[in-house]
Amino acid sequence: MNYALRQRHAAARLQKTGAGALLVTHLPNVRYLCGFSGSAGVLVLRLSAGRPRAVFYTDGRYRQQASEEVQNAKVVISRKSAMTDACKGVLRAGVEVLGFESEHLPYEQYKTIGQIVRGRARLKPVTGLIEPLRAVKDAGEIEQMRAAALLGCSLFQTALNFIKPGVTESVVAGELELQARRAGAEKMSFDTIVAAGSRSALPHGRASSQAISGSGFVILDYGVILAGYCSDMTRTVHVGKITGARRRMYDAVGVAQMASVNAVRPGVTAGDVDRAGRQILKKAGYGRYFTHSTGHGVGIEIHEQPRLAAGQTQKLEPGMVVTIEPGIYIPEQGGVRIEDMVLVTESGHEILTPTTRELIEL
Ligand code: ZN
Ligand code: ZN
Repeated sequence: MNYALRQRHAAARLQKTGAGALLVTHLPNVRYLCGFSGSAGVLVLRLSAGRPRAVFYTDGRYRQQASEEVQNAKVVISRKSAMTDACKGVLRAGVEVLGFESEHLPYEQYKTIGQIVRGRARLKPVTGLIEPLRAVKDAGEIEQMRAAALLGCSLFQTALNFIKPGVTESVVAGELELQARRAGAEKMSFDTIVAAGSRSALPHGRASSQAISGSGFVILDYGVILAGYCSDMTRTVHVGKITGARRRMYDAVGVAQMASVNAVRPGVTAGDVDRAGRQILKKAGYGRYFTHSTGHGVGIEIHEQPRLAAGQTQKLEPGMVVTIEPGIYIPEQGGVRIEDMVLVTESGHEILTPTTRELIEL
């Protein structure tokens, strides 16, 4: 991972805000800029004649981890408060305008920082400085994401083995998660979704104690984290022989999903990708049952930029990794969603999720 390059890009964006330094408190951003994967620490990115100077502050619990992981930043182990030391360091360097990640700093910490720098530096809220950089993955990140996606796919068959009438959603999720750990996943990207029968009509139906019934859809939506990068995929299977109406639902989602996948290429807007699938579901009469956006960027976090939703004007760029996940949710009856991870390439796209999209009846 080229942390020096990432810090230079961040510094160039910081310069435009007028701030002389940025307190990076959002841990995924800290990880992106210097490699630290622990759960407490603050990175100060300071401009020195337009060039970045990075100092990472943490406490004694992370002394060893910081020395092993942090790259391209000086490490300071604080005896009391990493944040206080970070602010004092910024003042010593003569910074007059101190940027902070306003979407990621608790109000109490904001007040504390204000008291430390009072009269010497002005605080400036900054949003979306690092996140757009993270949206475009470099070659090393793409390799990690490819591996995470493949590991996720390899677990699908395991999950299928446990989907049977009478087995609870929680047990299916638990078996899937155990296999994920055994296969080397650090953890799941998010709470595994197993939503069976009428619960499949809930777009975010976390696995519950409900047992799978003898007939109906089961939505499986899960992901693994490998080397810090998330995967995300959804497949919907049917327990028992599928009926004509449900088959039409499934096929409509399949066609819509492929239409959005095929719309992915550099230069199109996120809204264009959303529209490609959404109009198919509208024409098939399911428009009002597709109640969420088409997808999202994925990477160090499960939900990143860009957001693939109606009206989004952000253009796709090579190196972005997005999910394409249209669905139909009919209350009381059930739902279908199919989700792949898709890499935007120089000439189009590459699907990172090779698992079949054909209907599986169990
Ligand atoms: Zn998902
Ligand atoms: Zn997703």
